[in-house]
Amino acid sequence: MSEGSFNPFKMAQQQFDAIAENLQLDEATKELLRNPDREYHFNIPIRMDDGTYKVFRGYRCQHNDARGPSKGGIRFHPQETVDTVRALSMWMTWKTAVVDIPLGGGKGGVICDPRNLSLREQEAICRGWVRQIARNVGPLQDVPAPDVMTNGQHMLWMLDEYERITGVKAPGFITGKPLGSGGSLGRTEATGYGVMYTVREALKELNIDISKTTASFQGFGNVSQYAIDLYTQYGGKAIAVSSWDNKEKKAITYKKLSGIDWKELLSITNRFGEVDQQKALELGYEILPGDAWIQQEVDILVPAALENQINASNVNMIKPTVKLIAEGANGPTTPEADEVIKARGIWVIPDFLANAGGVTCSYFEQVQCNMNYFWTRQEVLEKLDQKMTHAYHAVSDLAKSRKIYMRDAAYLISISRVAEACKLRGWV
Ligand code: GLU
Repeated sequence: MSEGSFNPFKMAQQQFDAIAENLQLDEATKELLRNPDREYHFNIPIRMDDGTYKVFRGYRCQHNDARGPSKGGIRFHPQETVDTVRALSMWMTWKTAVVDIPLGGGKGGVICDPRNLSLREQEAICRGWVRQIARNVGPLQDVPAPDVMTNGQHMLWMLDEYERITGVKAPGFITGKPLGSGGSLGRTEATGYGVMYTVREALKELNIDISKTTASFQGFGNVSQYAIDLYTQYGGKAIAVSSWDNKEKKAITYKKLSGIDWKELLSITNRFGEVDQQKALELGYEILPGDAWIQQEVDILVPAALENQINASNVNMIKPTVKLIAEGANGPTTPEADEVIKARGIWVIPDFLANAGGVTCSYFEQVQCNMNYFWTRQEVLEKLDQKMTHAYHAVSDLAKSRKIYMRDAAYLISISRVAEACKLRGWV
């Protein structure tokens, strides 16, 4: 979300401009890729449970579809802005390109706070969103998925509305669906597991034994939970995790030096993502301020919440013990903070590579829906591991051979793939 003067779209464009310069892209290609190809802004009028009417603002940005249908989530958040959606749509284009799946980039959003909406009201927003955009999205045009504060249930309501409008079954219209309703095994854990596949590979390269490492996580949503799950299976110890407390309107860090059991922490978390602090104390957690997660003496930091979280004001709080930052969130590090991290020589797995597991599994979900034949969880996770491991090494090999920063290497690969596709199509 934008905070103060921070504008995620300006940041995404700034990152793009630097690489476009480096790649010596021509003016037309730069112009094409600096902005979304198309964007839709619309009203979603809803009858609330108390009988009053409320109008919510919805968006869909399709950044680029040269490599395949646009792909990306729909976020429900009270601080959603069109510039956030634009930035996220651009990052989706780079994300699908870096893992080399035949999809482009898009993103959607609705300015709303699902924590203050009943399920019926949320269903109405999902159906309203689809009614406004049904002609401009679809399995061969633009394929939505879950993102912050949306889940499989929201996707199924959206699919149902889309199928009512079009009159045909179209399970490939949306991904992240529940199991048994066109969803793929492994999709829930895919983003978090994907982060950890890349962490595992990075630690191998850094000659660090993962089972002797500790990590601190920002956020306790879908990405963080499953990243902690796999990290723990690999023998690592997650010692701190921060989570947003909506009642107190601030983040809180929960710390346990003996290692966090994510299922235990989840069992004392309510449906709004709030941890019961009394129970946490009883279970031996220390309760610390929100930004304590970044100040831990750990080997690995995993920002897995929102954008603009590692910035000029807190980057210097990162302890010298930190050797690796794996960006589970989209855009968590501002350009100023990035300069500091780069200068300190901390190894970074950039967002659109680290968190590409979600969209990669979404692609597998589409493939399975198209075949109408579903794989086992093991098959899905093996394919996901292969894709992520391959993408990680392609980026890291380039970074090492050219002696460049990991983020720049990832951008070089993605932007050249997308620019090439645009050129081959005769667009620029
Ligand atoms: N919202 C996720 C992301 O930011 C997943 C997108 C998808 O599966 O299409 O990557």
